[in-house]
Formats: sequence, C-alpha cells, structure tokens
Amino acid sequence: MSGSQPSGLVIGIYTDFQLSCNISESSGISVAVSIDIVNQFKAHGLKGKVNDSFVYLQFSVSGQVNSLIAVVGFGDKSCSANEASENVRSAIGTGVRCLEERKVSDIKVDVSINPRAAAEGAFLGSYKFDSLCTEKALSLTITPFRLDSNAPVSHPEFKEWNEGKICAESQNFVRDLTTTPANLMTPTIFAESVVKELESIKNVTVNVYDQDWIETNKMGLFLSVAQGSAQPPKFVEIIYNGLGSSSLAPSVALVGKGITFDSGGVSIKPSKGMDLMKGDMGGGASVVGAMRGIALLKAPINAVCVVPLSENMINGRATKPGDVFTAMNGKTVEILNTDAEGRLVLADALTYVIDTYKPKTVIDVATLTGAMVVSLSEVFSGVFTDSDELWNSINDAGNSTGDLVWRMPLHPYYLKNMESRIADIANITTSGFGGGSSAAAMFLSEFLGTTNKQDSEKEPKFKWAHMDIAGSSETSSNSGHQVRGMSGRPTRTLIEFLESVSSTPL
Ligand SMILES: [Zn+2]
Repeated sequence: MSGSQPSGLVIGIYTDFQLSCNISESSGISVAVSIDIVNQFKAHGLKGKVNDSFVYLQFSVSGQVNSLIAVVGFGDKSCSANEASENVRSAIGTGVRCLEERKVSDIKVDVSINPRAAAEGAFLGSYKFDSLCTEKALSLTITPFRLDSNAPVSHPEFKEWNEGKICAESQNFVRDLTTTPANLMTPTIFAESVVKELESIKNVTVNVYDQDWIETNKMGLFLSVAQGSAQPPKFVEIIYNGLGSSSLAPSVALVGKGITFDSGGVSIKPSKGMDLMKGDMGGGASVVGAMRGIALLKAPINAVCVVPLSENMINGRATKPGDVFTAMNGKTVEILNTDAEGRLVLADALTYVIDTYKPKTVIDVATLTGAMVVSLSEVFSGVFTDSDELWNSINDAGNSTGDLVWRMPLHPYYLKNMESRIADIANITTSGFGGGSSAAAMFLSEFLGTTNKQDSEKEPKFKWAHMDIAGSSETSSNSGHQVRGMSGRPTRTLIEFLESVSSTPL
C-alpha cells in the first residue's frame, strides 16, 4: 500500500530485554535497530513488565517517520504457559491501542510467540462501539507479522492467528449485542441479529420461535416475565452439527438468559445504573457468541444453544408480587420478587432443552444475581456444579483463555430457604439470610427437565453447570485487551470448553 500514513508494528519485550521477534538483517528489524530499540526502552526506565509500553520511531532517509514500532512488555519468561498467554493478550492489546492513539491504522502484530493470543489481544483491545456516533473511530487493519514474509498463508502461525481472531470477534459480537441500548436491542432485534450473524455459517441452523410456540410449550414462567412488556418475547435456538451428521443428538446444550432490559418489574430497581440493565441478556449473548465461535472454528461437536428473550417491564398485565405461575415442568412458583426474573426464563429454557435433546452436558449462563458481584467483582465468573469433572473442564478452559472462573457452592440449605406457603417453591429466599447466588443456582436445579426426582431410575443423566456472570459481564477500566464497558465474557471460555470436550468428551 502506498500513502503518506506511517505503518505500525507491535512487538514484545521480556524482562530480560529480549525482543519477541527474531532479528534479521533482511527485515525491518536489523541487529542495529534491535539494539537501538532495547537501549531506548531501557532509557525510558521500562523493565519489560506486562503492559510497559514505548513507541519506537523509524525514519526514512528524508527524515519522515515511516514506521512506528510499539514495544510492549511481555513480562517474565519463567511464568506458566497460561500466564504467558494472558501476558501476550494483554500486551498486544496495549500495543495496538498505543499505535491507534498515534493515528496509525495499518498495524502489524508480531506472531512469533503465541499467534492465537496475539490475535485475541489485538482484536479485543481495539474494540470500540461507535455505531451510534456520527464521528467514527479510526478504522484499523490488523494483520500478523512474520519476519519471513514469504511464509505461505497455510503456515501454522497464520492458522492460529485466524483462530484467535475468530474467538476475539465472537466476543466482540457479544459486546455489540450487550452494549446496544435496549430500544435498539429488543427480543425481536436480538433474534434478527442472531439470524443475520449465524445463519450463513456452515452446519448451523437458527430457529426463532414466537409467543404462540412458547405458549404451546407451556413455558409459564417465561411467559410470566414477558407479559409485563409491550415487546413480544422470542425464543432463539441454534443447532450446530459440527460432526456433519444431524442424526446425532447434541452432546452439549448451552442456555443463556436473554432479558434485553430488566427494570425489575413491579419490584422496580433503583434508578442509579439502571441503564446497564440493557446488558441483562449478557448470558444469552455469550452463548450465541460461543456458538458462532465453534461453528467458524469447525469444532467437531454437535451442540445446541437456546436463549429465552424478553424484557422485564411494568404494564397493566405485569406480574404482581405474590402471583403464582406453573413452569414447563409442572412445578408452581410463587413470585415474591419480580426482579428475580432471570431464573424464571432460564427454568423453562432448561426444561425445554433437556427434555428435547437429552444432552450429556448442560451449561446455563446468566447475569443472575447482585450477590455474585459482591462475591467475585469483575474478575471471575461464578460456576455452580455438582460435577468435579465438569468444573475441572470449565476451569481449565478459563485458565487457558484468561477469562477466569471460580467455583461456588450448591447446597440443599439454600433451597430449603425458598419455601413458599402456597406453591411448590418461591422465586427468592423466604427464610435465613444471604447466599443469594447459591439460592438462585439451587432454584435452577429444580427445573432440569420434567424428570420426577422421587424416582431414582429417572435421575437426570447429564452434568449441569450454572455460570453467574453478573460481575464478569462488565469491565470497569481499559487495561490490556480489556475495554471499559460490556466485556463479552465468558465467550472465549465457552468456546475453549466446547473445543476441549469435542476432542475429549466428558
Ligand atoms: Zn432482575
């Protein structure tokens, strides 16, 4: 490409002052240049710690800047493989932003260390949501850089780069869905966005069901939430047949909470921060993003994903505290707080997906409880499961992606405290105190299909995990690949999990 704009390159530097890229006389980074880079980096008092950054300028013979090299700290070489990957993600995100701030739009990223993590860092770190602003952000072209520019595109480094790009772009798709304001992301628009984004991907089928279908399936809890809104509910189902055979049932089912705006209903929320309730479909968005990811990565697995979509609003037909509704699996629920609506829509979606597909593993993801924010802040997503095997698998995925998880407890105590005096169960704790996240998880455990739990022969034959992302779905500041706002988590951890169980089933 010609033009007067200087190009940019992002490279790493370790705490021993070794650069991440190989040095070659034939490339832009000769031995002399590399020595100059390191000397200038040191002269700025930088140590190579993660995110230490410095921009090195290269001049043409006529004295014009023709390229900018962002040199970013990769940290200590002796750290673990997972830490090293996260260091690369973080540093590359920082490096890309450094160049963007200097109006460099053509950016190359050194991929000699960890191409997948480098791509994730670059595309996550450069995320911005500008579709509603009249002035658009600088449009970036980010490509992998190898000193051996003759390498074929089939080279493993490019393949891994592309995989990282798919993962990051899937997470960015989730960020778009969750950041878009609720008037522009109704249940109907969410469903249309899913169709638009996923329908054309090979081996993917998207079904969008409407109110009639939801009524036919007797999803009484889901409908009880939707009845307070002028926006009709939708139920999105995505089926991915990565094994190429639609006759094989999906082994994994994902369920995501899809409340496109949560006012709290009659149990209305406080005004402060209520705008963020546009992101109350973060669980639904992230499971959709994960399906996008595994489908584009062509993971050899059959999986299904469902998202019950509704607003939680207040009109003349809205649920009143004390109302009782019947779930799809026949249980009756007394609604003592209309703001505990996520568990209601999830309950019917769980019953549906388990009864219909009989998956071996079920994971639901939801911005479910404020108590989770208190417990884990934005660092971890909380995971509730009785299965050590499933926990280990999700935790391994989280450590590998840097999109971290933390195990939380399930215990009958929490369920006992949800007794209703007039129905099978209440939707909130009615005795005891605290433990709101565990109580919500135990509530969901009552809706894992229509199986009669009294009959041990019919005990569910699947593993289930509930992920509460009320804290991790947001990021409070820009740092490395993290950008302030909706985080798009835990999309990459779900993708990694699905990839891992496709090769080693649980
Ligand atoms: Zn709520």
